[in-house]
Amino acid sequence: MGQVIDKTYNGLKVPQGEKITFADGKPVVPNKPIIPFIEGDGTGRDIWKASVRVIDAAVKKAYDGKREIAWFEVFAGEKAKDQFNEWLPEDTIAALKEFGVGIKGPLTTPVGGGIRSLNVALRQIFDLYCCVRPVRYFKGVPSPVVAPEKLDVVIYRENTEDVYSGIEFQAGTDEAKKLIEILESMGKKIRHDSGIGIKPISKTGSQRLVRRAIEYAIAHGKKTVTMVHKGNIQKFTEGAFRDWGYELAATEFADKVISEEKLWADHDGKLPAGKILLNDRIADSMFQQVLTRPDEYQVLATTNLNGDYLSDACAAQVGGLGLAPGANIGDSCAIFEATHGTAPKYADKDVINPGSVILSAVMMLDYMGWTEAAKMIEESVSKTIQQKKVTYDLERLMPGATKLKTSEFADAIIANFS
Ligand code: NAP
Repeated sequence: MGQVIDKTYNGLKVPQGEKITFADGKPVVPNKPIIPFIEGDGTGRDIWKASVRVIDAAVKKAYDGKREIAWFEVFAGEKAKDQFNEWLPEDTIAALKEFGVGIKGPLTTPVGGGIRSLNVALRQIFDLYCCVRPVRYFKGVPSPVVAPEKLDVVIYRENTEDVYSGIEFQAGTDEAKKLIEILESMGKKIRHDSGIGIKPISKTGSQRLVRRAIEYAIAHGKKTVTMVHKGNIQKFTEGAFRDWGYELAATEFADKVISEEKLWADHDGKLPAGKILLNDRIADSMFQQVLTRPDEYQVLATTNLNGDYLSDACAAQVGGLGLAPGANIGDSCAIFEATHGTAPKYADKDVINPGSVILSAVMMLDYMGWTEAAKMIEESVSKTIQQKKVTYDLERLMPGATKLKTSEFADAIIANFS
């Protein structure tokens, strides 16, 4: 199975397999795709060893050996620094570009030096404009709320604009002074000892994000997409995000999507069959709603900063970040990743919870259209947690639980496949 791609990256030969290609921003996946992985620093090593076993076993079982992933190691973070004296080698970037879909463990953020964060660098290089975070509850996980199972949302957060564009000027610098002068000439008042940050939100950036959120809802049978913004205060950025979202829905998804206004005016508040409700909420109200009426929301499309806060708040609501997966998705590249860091004090001790990377792999398989394998892993993670077979982080919070090592947790998940 698979073709021979006679190339090396970082001195490693590409394994036998085929390339994932992209059509209209969606992956076209062969039966033996080559998928680059970045093991990750610190606990990333233990996590990857455990995760890859779970993924391979699920794919093998789900497709009776007819599908298989050809894993290809690429390097970033400390391992790359040690071997190639670079935090993010050019070959790693080239391999991710060539093979399109990748998965990574957590990476140490280099202190000092050129790169602000490897994760941010990867997002910028590949224009990964959707930060996707599914948040669901696994029965048995301790949570700070009474009914955590009511929250089951997928957050699509814009990943390139807003405060992430990083345009800032320190107070007192020539640049800040110049900008203040320009703004004053436009009739705006700004204290002269202000630092200035610029928050661009474009029609292009907003619409491509909302489009992805709606497409996800359609593909996964979701009933609502909610745009989250602060448009009551910032009309031309946050408010425009909402307006452009509605505009896009009206032009591209008119047969599929209905607005809240129309829902009440024409359908007495009842969603017609086959339609998706597109509504919007002011960010502060949304934070209340995920606590008070969580089951009314399914897909959230947000601007960058609101989505940053909301993702972690929702993850905390269902029991924390230890099990929260994530993905950064663009039109010709998608990278799936753990949302936690490298937890260096637990490195190589075989104790850490690999759940975040394993569930990121579930997202990756789902994105590839290998939904049977994705479902098998997700259900098995859920079953294993319900059996109270968990790693230390959950065991210490779950009375009567059995503490498993990282590798044993992977074994238990594989044993629970059905
Ligand atoms: P961290 O690595 O996320 O660890 C903080 C604490 O969170 C750990 O001590 C542990 O808590 C808990 N934790 C993290 N991952 C866990 C897991 N898989 N299972 C169970 N518990 C887990 O945060 P940090 O110490 O602030 O950052 C360390 C390094 O990671 C830094 O270099 C940072 O830049 C980097 N980082 C990378 C990413 C990324 O690559 N996406 C994200 C964030 C941070 P207990 O000690 O209570 O058990």
